[in-house]
Amino acid sequence: MSDEVPAAPASPGSFPSLSIRANELSPRGSFAESQALYLRPDAETVAELDALLKRTRAGVVAHFYMDPELQGVLSACSWPYIHVSDSLAMADAAVGMVEKGAERIVVLGVDFMSENVRAVLDAAGHESVPVHRVSAEAIGCSLAEAAESEAYLAYLDDAAEHPRALHVVYINTSLRTKALAQVRVPTLTCTSGNVVRTILQAAAEIPDVSIFFGPDTYMGENLEVLFGSLAELGDDAIRALHPAHDSRSLRALRERLHHFEQGNCVVHHMFGAEVVGLVRADYPDAQVTAHLEVPGEMFALGMRAQREGRGVIGSTSDILAHIEAQTRLAMNASGARRLQFVLGTEAGMVTPIVRRVQEILREDEARDVEVEIVFPVASEAVAAAPDSPLGVVPGVAAGEGCTVAGGCATCPYMKMNSLTSLLATLARDPSELTAFEPRKYLEKIERRSVAELGSEPILHMRHFSREGVMAPALVQDVATRYARRHAG
Ligand code: SF4
Repeated sequence: MSDEVPAAPASPGSFPSLSIRANELSPRGSFAESQALYLRPDAETVAELDALLKRTRAGVVAHFYMDPELQGVLSACSWPYIHVSDSLAMADAAVGMVEKGAERIVVLGVDFMSENVRAVLDAAGHESVPVHRVSAEAIGCSLAEAAESEAYLAYLDDAAEHPRALHVVYINTSLRTKALAQVRVPTLTCTSGNVVRTILQAAAEIPDVSIFFGPDTYMGENLEVLFGSLAELGDDAIRALHPAHDSRSLRALRERLHHFEQGNCVVHHMFGAEVVGLVRADYPDAQVTAHLEVPGEMFALGMRAQREGRGVIGSTSDILAHIEAQTRLAMNASGARRLQFVLGTEAGMVTPIVRRVQEILREDEARDVEVEIVFPVASEAVAAAPDSPLGVVPGVAAGEGCTVAGGCATCPYMKMNSLTSLLATLARDPSELTAFEPRKYLEKIERRSVAELGSEPILHMRHFSREGVMAPALVQDVATRYARRHAG
């Protein structure tokens, strides 16, 4: 592998990009240069982290949006208990690691993720295994905060007035939010990877269900557009998606689907009309990937691209799978091929993308295939970092991070998980890490603990993931609360 990261321009355009070949990365723009640099981590740091993980027998579960420097080092470690994924798979990976011999779990993500890992480990009988975050401070999330508001409780109180109400809450919320929701309306969690299947299945099993989604407003709007557009497909195509549905049932579902109107992710909020205009003008032939959390303009661009076979809308895992599949197709085609993808999600995704794409390209290095990832952010969306060889790092230096006018697609909360803080946390004795544990909620709601109540919606989601059907207790809960209300 070449040790150099040549700064050759890949293609003209408004945004930074990173071109990937089997053994070479070509960044364009300082943002991409810093991303590329982190993909070649320092060997001594990798050895230090590997030794610490081995000594402490710690498993690490990290989110795709993690700091690229940290992901670069993690991906070079040889310790077997390291897992990077979307939030759904993180908790299952933690259980798997513990069952294979990890003695503690370190979560690299935001606080709802460590709470989720704790709840799932407890449900699997691993209450004694410590779970640690890498900060003594709260690691927030703008969506989780939106769901802590009075407005969200009012939204749920209104939902409870509807017959057969079901609350589908995005996993990006605290255990307390989930508990407060569960006492108001039967609730199950979802992720961006399973939200569409969850809603389809709930509507198939619970006749006339009214679904209340929250707290992500853009995702709620996008889901309504998506179900409206799916209803226009023929019945055969709809049944291929879900055998219990046809255009009539999808139209009825769309009518009874509601969303909260005051919550968004500060990162995906960046992908607004201005970015979309530049993508349209400068990258007319690019494949477009768009996360479900992006604003409507970007979602529409991704939906059109998906319909035309040159893009995908969905979760981080869907985006990764699409880039992998297109790379494989290019490898099987004859002649030189150059693929270009606009990355419609958090820039930390670049680390797993580069790793997977290079694995595929190295299967046959004779093939002339190049994959360019375009970051639709302003090139100047970097912070000065005098200690870095390039003098810059992705994202902003401090504070809340992304601005509506700016163009930074990195999550300021996720970036609170730094390489330094991971090394420091592992070096400390677990007895000194009380402040690093997931938040413990001591209050009771209707005589039940927040942990117990808040875990129920997560366990309902896990039942659906495992069995492909709604948890019977949840379906019963919707019917019981409706009957009670009707009788009253
Ligand atoms: S990217 Fe950051 S702010 Fe957005 S949903 Fe994820 S954790 Fe929350």
